[in-house]
Amino acid sequence: MAVREVVLIGDTRLRQVALAVDPTRHDWRQDAMDLADTLADLKARLGFGRGLASPQIGSPWRLIAFDCRLGTFVAVNPRITWRSDETFSVLDDCFSIPGRKVPVTRSKAVAFECLDIDGDVHVFKRLEPDLAELVQHEVDHLDGILMTDRAAQQHGSTATGVDSRMGAT
Ligand SMILES: [Zn+2]
Repeated sequence: MAVREVVLIGDTRLRQVALAVDPTRHDWRQDAMDLADTLADLKARLGFGRGLASPQIGSPWRLIAFDCRLGTFVAVNPRITWRSDETFSVLDDCFSIPGRKVPVTRSKAVAFECLDIDGDVHVFKRLEPDLAELVQHEVDHLDGILMTDRAAQQHGSTATGVDSRMGAT
């Protein structure tokens, strides 16, 4: 088990656009394992955590570890293929921005596709709000975008304590 340090806001690795994985190669597999291990460790220590994106452990690849109703697996080259026009506001949080919650506008439903580490295709035709906002948050990480970039200007943001991180991703 290789648990890595979570990269925090201010680190340029969170701002890089992650690279597509070539599923036939092996150069990304250790990072995929470490990402899953790091999410499992966070969940064991803190009691929460539904997803973790590869830039959060300093990996350059397009990988997201999930542990939620989507399943417990590492999504490889994940893509949002459709977003609903309807949006909603969610109080977002992030393991890379500890102690903060910011209101973010997200699409209410999305379609989501990825491979898993065995190369099998997973297609989620319509994810409802709680999972939709999760995958939007994580795919944003792969594009170097943080929740604070999407924070609704009119609401600003607030500093909060540990309780605010219950759904941290
Ligand atoms: Zn995050």
